[in-house]
Amino acid sequence: MQIIIHRGTHQIGGCVTEIDSNRAKVFIDFGSNLPGNASQEASFPIAGLTVSDGSQSALFLTHYHGDHVGRLGEVLPELPIYMGKTAKALYLNYAQRVHSANLPLIESIHSFMPLDTVRIGDISVMPLMIDHSAFDAYMFIIEAEGKRILHTGDFRLHGFRGGKSLHMLGRYASDIDYLICEGTTLSRETAQFITERELQHKAKILMQGCPYVFVFCSSTNIDRIAAFYHANPPGRLFLCDQYQKEQLRLVRMYHAKYSKFYDFQHLYSYAPNLDERMEKQGFCMIIRQGAVYFQLLQRYQGRSRVIYSMWDGYLKGNTRNEALAAFIEPYHPIHLHTSGHARPQDLVRLCQTVCPKRGLIPIHGEMPERFRKLLPDRKIIILQDEEKLQL
Ligand SMILES: [Zn+2]
Ligand SMILES: [Zn+2]
Repeated sequence: MQIIIHRGTHQIGGCVTEIDSNRAKVFIDFGSNLPGNASQEASFPIAGLTVSDGSQSALFLTHYHGDHVGRLGEVLPELPIYMGKTAKALYLNYAQRVHSANLPLIESIHSFMPLDTVRIGDISVMPLMIDHSAFDAYMFIIEAEGKRILHTGDFRLHGFRGGKSLHMLGRYASDIDYLICEGTTLSRETAQFITERELQHKAKILMQGCPYVFVFCSSTNIDRIAAFYHANPPGRLFLCDQYQKEQLRLVRMYHAKYSKFYDFQHLYSYAPNLDERMEKQGFCMIIRQGAVYFQLLQRYQGRSRVIYSMWDGYLKGNTRNEALAAFIEPYHPIHLHTSGHARPQDLVRLCQTVCPKRGLIPIHGEMPERFRKLLPDRKIIILQDEEKLQL
């Protein structure tokens, strides 16, 4: 049995991990590089994933962010792909909006529910739902030949549902041999780390100070949208567009029965016949780049608050998105965001809970060696891309 991280040992994003039992192969994620990553997106021949025979392998997706699913279009046609049920529905709706060429492929994805174990040959994969800035995201316990591996995907413990994660891991992720763990925040010195609940509180204060609020955030960061939804003062409209409304309807359909937090009952899809009510009642509106939003921002310029609730990196440095910056910066947005990735102290808590017997393998981070300083008593196995680790 072996583990190969084809990409992601020394970078954030663009990850693909292979776990090979000699009889079957399980791949975790197949993402694009983050914008600004200088390395080329060259073709990626990986046996069982993009070339040769895919009949004894499968691809499991931790979540729908581009740095985990961006290269789906290159997989072998017969390869089964798995992802969470709600995540698939949200990803499909998004793909329809952007007219993705991968639409038939995404429709064909097999979906699972938390704790539904899937068997691929002699390998079993159990999904554990965790908290991340993508909804319905998963860690996986991969088991074969008596070895157990926990792959964290992207996760955090400071979100609304993060607190339950350690309890769940304590229950299910016992007897783990290898922990493949994301380390995004070990190199992002400036990462913002307020909790999602603190963010909701700050949003509430900002909204109390101004009746007209625009929030620029990712359409698939459902917990963030829920934070603004619940921070919106009573009597004010909560607005988005038809696509965003459908995203929230899907979440409501699958999750409102478990948590009122996702009920999203009082939503309006913007249309000009709401202009008068918006003016009178005040509103919070979830926006993206686009002509309709441009007009509304112009109309309310000088008497509204614009909140930028995404990663700062999209507005600075080599990851700056010029079109996004040109759209949002004229309105001097207030930055209100928190990371979707585990804080360093939470990486320690995770490792103390899981106690991997044979070592921790860093992934999804630019400075994997920092795990050694963070966890001096643990064995840290730093791999290179494509290196084979025999178990
Ligand atoms: Zn990621
Ligand atoms: Zn992610």
